[in-house]
Amino acid sequence: MKRNDYISWDEYFMGVSILASKRSKDPNTQVGACIVDDHNIILSTGYNGFPLGCSDDEFPWERIGEDTKYPYVVHAELNAILNSGGKDLRGSKIYVSLFPCNECAKAIIQSGIREIIYISDKHANDRGTIASKRLLKAAGVKCTRLEPKSHKIELDFDIE
Ligand SMILES: [Zn+2]
Repeated sequence: MKRNDYISWDEYFMGVSILASKRSKDPNTQVGACIVDDHNIILSTGYNGFPLGCSDDEFPWERIGEDTKYPYVVHAELNAILNSGGKDLRGSKIYVSLFPCNECAKAIIQSGIREIIYISDKHANDRGTIASKRLLKAAGVKCTRLEPKSHKIELDFDIE
């Protein structure tokens, strides 16, 4: 008899994106992304952070004031696209915990990703998110809200 409590593909890929988000040094927002092809092969992952060579200890993580993170940080979705190393992303899906902003929407569209699977849409009323949805709709990118069966997946490193 096979196990019945195995996780679905959606839970697996969303789990990978959430696990990637745990790498983020951002004290306020941790977002991960996972790009998957139509054979359920992971093409790339990413999380929000500064570009290569831009130190997490030197660049600002502040959200308000003179020197904020916003001009410097690369979002999870864009990092996942750029981390793919030139792979053909056309026809792929991207799993991301938070609905993509308009800048990431542009990169998603241009890279040929055809579906976004997300959990949270907490910035739905922001201008950026409204613009994002307008872009994605015009480009025909499918947006699907994932409602996971389980709300927690535990990872046990104690294999023995
Ligand atoms: Zn973004």
